Amino acid sequence: IRTIGVLTSGGDAQGMNACIRAVTRSALNKGIRVMGIRKGYNGLLRGDIVEMTAGSVADIIHRGGTILYTARCPEFLEPDNQKRASEMCKVFGIDGLVVIGGDGSFRGAKDVSKFGINVVGIPGTIDLDIACTDYTIGFDSAVNVVMDAISRLRDTSASHERCSVVEVMGRHCGEIALWAGLATGADAIMIPEDKESADFERVVRIILENRARGKNHNIIIVSEGVGGSQELAKRIHEVTGIDSRTTILGHIQRGGRPTALDVKHASMMGVYAVELLAKGETDRVVAYKNGQYVDYDIDEALAMHRDVSMDIWKANVDISTY
Ligand code: ADP
Repeated sequence: IRTIGVLTSGGDAQGMNACIRAVTRSALNKGIRVMGIRKGYNGLLRGDIVEMTAGSVADIIHRGGTILYTARCPEFLEPDNQKRASEMCKVFGIDGLVVIGGDGSFRGAKDVSKFGINVVGIPGTIDLDIACTDYTIGFDSAVNVVMDAISRLRDTSASHERCSVVEVMGRHCGEIALWAGLATGADAIMIPEDKESADFERVVRIILENRARGKNHNIIIVSEGVGGSQELAKRIHEVTGIDSRTTILGHIQRGGRPTALDVKHASMMGVYAVELLAKGETDRVVAYKNGQYVDYDIDEALAMHRDVSMDIWKANVDISTY
């Protein structure tokens, strides 16, 4: 491999910059040139590509977002465009590509590799929704933002004896809700993977029971994939008369300084990806599994299934009963 291209694709996540830095510096130190591809696959199609130096990635290790920008690129589903992207790689001398993103981005990488470019994916998403890995870059930072926000909400909701309904991100995956719920002592956690957890009447019952035992405020976490967080607060108010407010945390969950855990994984995975390309490997996804960095074939990784952490949900039921 002579030249590695690096891009971020799909939703941004804290730690992506640390990963870009790791890819860039470790490749340069191996004598490999590095090209930064901007705006995900859009930039690859349009040739929005800049040469990276050690200095290009200075002072970004602690910053959220991605200096390379990110985007969704629906045109990339068309095989003609995938071929064009591989031709653009050749124009810039790129023979290895590192794609930091989620499952969709890995599918795009696989398509580029069909035209002779070596590709490696790195899991970057706050959602922790990639089956082949126990960790995705951005998750810990997002959960910590939620924790911080809820600790503020707790002060005000306790003072007013309210019920706080908090909607968190995660798309179809409940992991952010589960971790944040456990970490903030939520009365209930509602996730899309489990029907029982997402049942309004169950949550109303928990609130009534906890109030009857003397608890004077409540926190309910609703994962984005469950939806209906505004309606839930209304329902709680209707049935219990308790003042209930919904807070949708939204994009603040994606911003801010990455945690140490995110920077660590981002850096290690970046170095690992460059090592794979340097060895001539292609069609791999870097993963963190059972405490170790490993890699899988992209298709194999995409076919994997992982159950959401119901152990967290069950533990929270045990310890949130007042
Ligand atoms: P994520 O990578 O976080 O899963 P998306 O699913 O939005 O995010 O995918 C990001 C981008 O990857 C898409 O906008 C598209 O450019 C590309 N992509 C997604 N799915 C495919 C696919 N099946 N084939 C080729 N490219 C894809």
